[in-house]
Amino acid sequence: MPTKIIVIGGGPGGYVAALRAAALGGNVTLIEKENLGGTCLNWGCIPSKIMKNTADIFLNFLKAENFGITLKGNVQPDMPALMEKKNKILDTQRKGIAALLQKNKIVLEQGRAVIKSSGLVDVMVEDGSKKELVYDKLIIATGTKPLNVLDFPFDHQHILSSNDILQLSEIPESIIIVGGGVIGCEFAFIFSAMGSRVTIVEAMSRLLPLPSVDEDISKLLLREMKKRKISVLCDTIVKSADINTDIVSVHLGVSPFTDNSRPKKLKTLVLDSQKLAVCIGRTPLSADLGLDQIGLDTSPQGWIEVDEHMETSVPGVYAIGDILGPQRIMLAHVASHEGMIAAQNAMGEKDVMSYEAVPGAIFTMPEIGTVGLSEAEAKKKGYDVQAFSVNFRTLGKAQAIDELAGTAKMIVEKESNKILGVHLIGAHATDLIAEATLAIQKGLSAGDIAHTIHAHPTLAEIMGELSLKACGTPIHG
Ligand code: FAD
Repeated sequence: MPTKIIVIGGGPGGYVAALRAAALGGNVTLIEKENLGGTCLNWGCIPSKIMKNTADIFLNFLKAENFGITLKGNVQPDMPALMEKKNKILDTQRKGIAALLQKNKIVLEQGRAVIKSSGLVDVMVEDGSKKELVYDKLIIATGTKPLNVLDFPFDHQHILSSNDILQLSEIPESIIIVGGGVIGCEFAFIFSAMGSRVTIVEAMSRLLPLPSVDEDISKLLLREMKKRKISVLCDTIVKSADINTDIVSVHLGVSPFTDNSRPKKLKTLVLDSQKLAVCIGRTPLSADLGLDQIGLDTSPQGWIEVDEHMETSVPGVYAIGDILGPQRIMLAHVASHEGMIAAQNAMGEKDVMSYEAVPGAIFTMPEIGTVGLSEAEAKKKGYDVQAFSVNFRTLGKAQAIDELAGTAKMIVEKESNKILGVHLIGAHATDLIAEATLAIQKGLSAGDIAHTIHAHPTLAEIMGELSLKACGTPIHG
């Protein structure tokens, strides 16, 4: 008899796990309570990148003269048209996933899954009916929802979650974004490009305060925000917010969380804005899942713990993706990879999930691509390191496309010249990071990349220049 696998959650973790388990001969059922594609497709990666693409195109129109184009008449973004385009793309993508499931003979159950007991899951269907399903192995991929903060809760009109932002029918005249992390910074550039007055409030001392993002990247990003007149208030928190007709009054305070030893005095204690966007975290979707029925504990916040095989403390029950929380890496491609590992192990293999070469792609302006250790992390781990930087403006292609801002940094182990980390901020950095990811995955040295011929004129030459510099033989950089 084929192994009966139930996957709960149809996001990039769950649907990929289902496909892999089916390919290995499993009898697979996928349970999804909303739309296929999860946060990534419906409320995250894809809709935000559709908006970012429109913002990029709009900015290019505004600087048309730089490209030798004379524009006559008015150019402006059209939010309803953008939302329509976005919805069409999401619909196509969802249908694509449904077709893949069907082709691979995966049964899709539409409803909310609740674990009933060991080996049994109930599906609560919207019409009030209930279906009982049997499993040999269970994969939990239920993800998260936006974190609602009690001091300034979402009203979905003025105080917005990231879901609300992705459904706006008008460009706000002004927007305050709480959280200078990945999502907050991406939205800041999108709305600033579209004409909003944007302020970011960040509790830590720098933008993108993540160990995996090199501090030099944060500095350059701040410079780019200043160029675009985005106000950035670091070491600052939002304490509360009042809504007065169509204005949100946001009360600020000095951050108790900052890593800055000299937190600054605030210039202003109240800021008014048309919208307040809250981008400071996610809540796990584990509370109503019935985990207690199989004796599966979570952290106090509700995150699920797994071992290196993606298996929970309950044998035969796996968990993947964002439901594992910030202890792992909350990215779509990580969820998918964990999904493949979990599915393979559920089907009898003993594979291990490695997080050593996970690329990070941040869609700011310019974009950011990171992989491996930052300089600070490498030093903390005891490596004797050297770091090298090359500016994007040294590339012919960067000049040709008028995308001069940006820098690339490579961190290598001094003795072996082995690449430990690559951190790019510049045009198309999110695509360029793929080469560095392969280099780190394969344990390559800067010399290996330097001996690889890079096509001219391309932005990919940045990796060649960087590696040549790390080998002590720079050409242009
Ligand atoms: P999810 O995608 O959240 O999917 C979980 C699914 O489980 C959901 O469909 C949910 O409805 C379903 N579910 C939950 N409970 C139940 C239940 N009881 N029964 C049945 N179904 C259930 N990541 C990137 O890598 N790149 C990006 O550019 C990027 N941009 C982002 C932008 C934004 C604004 C946001 C919010 C996130 C972004 N992310 C990005 C993160 C990415 O979306 C997540 O890492 C990814 O979606 C996690 O996948 P997952 O499968 O673990 O969970």
